[in-house]
Amino acid sequence: MGKILTKGLFCLLPIFFAMTGCQPRVTPADLVLRNGRLYTVDGAAPWAAAVAVRNGRFVYVGDEAGAARFIGGDTRVIDLGGRLALPGFIDSHAHPISSYKHFFEIDLSGCRGGADCQRAVAAYARTHPEAPFIRGRGWSNTDFPKTGPGKQLLDEVVPDRPVALASEDGHSKWVNSRALKLAGVTRATRDPVGGVIERDPRSNEPSGTLREAAADLVAGLFPAPGLEELKKGLEAYQEMALACGITTVHDASLDAESSETQAYRELEGTGRLRLRVRASLYVDPQKGNEQLAALDHERLRNAGRLFQTRAAKLFADGVVEGSTAYLLEPYRHLPGSRGEPIWAADALARMCGELDRRLWQIHIHAIGDAAVRSCLDAFTSARQANGRRDARHLLTHLQLVDGNDIARFASLGVVAVVQPFWFTKDAYYRDIQVPYLGQERADREYPMAGFLRSGGTVASASDYPVTVPCDPLRGIQTGVTRTETGRTGPGEVLWAEERATLEQMIASFTINGAFANFLEDVTGSIAAGKSADLVVLDKDLFRIPAGEISTAKVLMTLFEGNVAYSSGVFKN
Ligand SMILES: [Zn+2]
Repeated sequence: MGKILTKGLFCLLPIFFAMTGCQPRVTPADLVLRNGRLYTVDGAAPWAAAVAVRNGRFVYVGDEAGAARFIGGDTRVIDLGGRLALPGFIDSHAHPISSYKHFFEIDLSGCRGGADCQRAVAAYARTHPEAPFIRGRGWSNTDFPKTGPGKQLLDEVVPDRPVALASEDGHSKWVNSRALKLAGVTRATRDPVGGVIERDPRSNEPSGTLREAAADLVAGLFPAPGLEELKKGLEAYQEMALACGITTVHDASLDAESSETQAYRELEGTGRLRLRVRASLYVDPQKGNEQLAALDHERLRNAGRLFQTRAAKLFADGVVEGSTAYLLEPYRHLPGSRGEPIWAADALARMCGELDRRLWQIHIHAIGDAAVRSCLDAFTSARQANGRRDARHLLTHLQLVDGNDIARFASLGVVAVVQPFWFTKDAYYRDIQVPYLGQERADREYPMAGFLRSGGTVASASDYPVTVPCDPLRGIQTGVTRTETGRTGPGEVLWAEERATLEQMIASFTINGAFANFLEDVTGSIAAGKSADLVVLDKDLFRIPAGEISTAKVLMTLFEGNVAYSSGVFKN
């Protein structure tokens, strides 16, 4: 009897559910977010109202009724109040490892001009009398003559201790006489390969600015931060990044011979790494293939869930402001000079061929159009030698790209990693790029939409600490408008045809960044099965003018289903 009744009930269950609108219960979720406008970046279903999260992953993405099934007695439910949510942001090229310097050394990024910098250095020296040396960063090339800032400004306030201050792009160092003396750099010292010692034109004395490899001449006076300092810097970085909605970052250049990778491993091992990190290991142009066995070994060591090093980083050239970017046509202010490649074309092709053969993802800094072309040529020859594979090599910065090379990114499967924060007619454009490159080239800087039109993948990045804050909302706004905040006149737009849409910019900071890091099955969109990485904003980017995108604030960041940052708005 009981048996028949039970069986009968089971047969009736589907009819019962269909009649009442109820559906069978499922295992309750840890967290349900409801009443939101979730832009999922998932092509099949770009919008949703609610999600359920269990064990750090989305288990449901869809409508209110569907998510309600996942609410059990212990489920935390957050009402988003109709606010916009996006996948957690991915910054595809940044330098979190240098955070110690950013947070705990002198920061000149707010200073304008020599006197302002001098005041800041004097104040720092006064408050740090015990420091054996003074190190910092953040001055701008646009505030000084072409030869860079002079040592006298520093000598007047710090005569007795060495001082070295990196420019905001990291490619030049401003030093005092004490540093030059201790390092033995005199007027007789030759420029090192790949570097320039700026000099007084009359006496030939070093004038106080060291470009690129010339900075290595004083490096021994300024020992690198130790393991504990690196970890302290990384923890400060991740608080800042999570508050900006960043849940995955690519650390673009780690030195395998230092304690940098150890700092990440120890943070992950002790549960203190609170975002996902993919990283590139630096390849030294002064060394040959003999360095690759150590890199292969290092790659195997860094295989945690959160921290992995699968890419190899090379520098193809320098920067325009140092006249060290490698150009197809000469600089306008230095007729006869096209800048210098850091790797000769054949050496670059050989190294890329070998790295590709060892299944490395190759990540190259390329600013000038000649540098970009030699990288694409090197990838072409690597593909010819090793065969086609899903390599996802990365070229980053891409300030000048010849029109003939744009479509080669898509055909070679190379990801363009751009810094949309820089897509403006700012002081660099006016004071350096126009005079150094000429108006025509300066007006065709930083392509973006062209890569997309030709079928390429573009991932966005801040290059933090070159760009501070590393707020993706600012990057999204600048990518859409290509103007500085508050300036939208047609003459103030940098290369209008290269503007991207809001959807394209969001994709570049989410799913395309995931692709660039081999993470598209893990994160980059709000989809069932993926890691619950998500950011909630106070403004709906789709319903405000593009010029106001950067005024939106992050209210909450979820990483692997945990609230990793909260502004305090969501109390429940
Ligand atoms: Zn960088």
